[in-house]
Order: sequence, then structure tokens, then C-alpha cells
Amino acid sequence: MPHPPEENSESPVPFFHLLERLKTTKREGWRRFGISYGESISDHMYRMAIMTMLAPPSLAARLNIPHCTKMALIHDMAESLVGDITPVDKHVSKAEKARREGEVMDYITKNLLGGVPGGGLTGEEIRRVFQEYEDNETLEARFVHDVDKMELLLQMVEYERALGVDLSEFCHVAQRIQLPEVKEWAATVLKEREAFWRERAAANNSNSSS
Ligand code: ZN
Repeated sequence: MPHPPEENSESPVPFFHLLERLKTTKREGWRRFGISYGESISDHMYRMAIMTMLAPPSLAARLNIPHCTKMALIHDMAESLVGDITPVDKHVSKAEKARREGEVMDYITKNLLGGVPGGGLTGEEIRRVFQEYEDNETLEARFVHDVDKMELLLQMVEYERALGVDLSEFCHVAQRIQLPEVKEWAATVLKEREAFWRERAAANNSNSSS
């Protein structure tokens, strides 16, 4: 790490600095399509956090919404730091990735927040919420997983509109959404996508025939 955060500090400032990496680390996946200035990890988590507040009433009645919002803000916190704590390996398995992310979350909880007055408790809560997302057993965790996929679909359509690139290989993510309320959101955005490509094809046809 270029500036390793100070450990066992009484101030949360070193932790705040560490969070900058979520702003500067781009989300993987888009780069293959030449989108290199794309969204950061915190961009993705911010929109998800707001989306959780818009859970439809049928779902909201059964959910602890502030808890979902918190989970959205925490769920990818380890992602940008994993490569720095352990050697980067391009062929890490899913289980190994999960293990490393858990390690990063332990490091944040203990080494960075352990000495901060009140930080130990907050750190433990962050760690717990992260683990709940990973375990994906509660309704809140399942909802946030769906919102994670939904956020990707929105971004997909936005990049397609802005750049005219075909990102259809991300469409399959919609199939993995579980809750009917979020499926409905996904259907809406996929309809927008269809309309965009239909209009584009029509525009191209009229250009070539004139
Ligand atoms: Zn995510």
C-alpha cells in the first residue's frame, strides 16, 4: 500500500482515508468494453443505498429498511482493499475471495477501529452487517443482493445509451434476481433497453435508405 493507514490509532481519520480507495477504484467488468473512466465502487454503493429506501410497500412492510441501506453502503467495502492486503492473484476462487474479504473486514474492525473510542463497537457492527450480506440468509441480505444486480442493470443501460455499445452479455443478471418486486424493476429497465435499441435500429435504417 502506498500510504498504509496508521494502525491502532485513537482517531478514525486513518480509516476515513482508507475509504478513499472506494472512490478511486473502478468497478470491474466494464473495462473490457473500453469503459475505463467508469463508475467507482462507492458510486455503485451510493445508488444502491438510495434504491433500498425505495423498496415497494409490499416488501418494505417486511424489511428493516435502514438496515438494508447500511448493508448497501458496506457490502463491497472490502473489494477495493483485498488486492493490497494479500498478493493479487487473477485466478482466485470464489471461496478464496470471500476469505480474503473477511480478512480485510477483520483488519478494519480490529487494526483501524479497535483503538478509536466507540470505534470498536461500530467496527464490530460493520463486520456483522458485511457477514450478513455474505451469508445471504436474511430477507434484508437477499433484497440487497437483488438491488446489487438491479444497480448493474441500470448502469448497463446507461452505458449503452451514452456510448452505443452492446452490453447484452450483462442481461443474464436479471434472471438471478429473486424477489418479485425487484424483478419488476428489472423488467422495466430491460423494456427501456429494448426501446432504445429498437429506436436506434429504426434511425439507422432511415439513414441508410435516404
Ligand atoms: Zn455490489
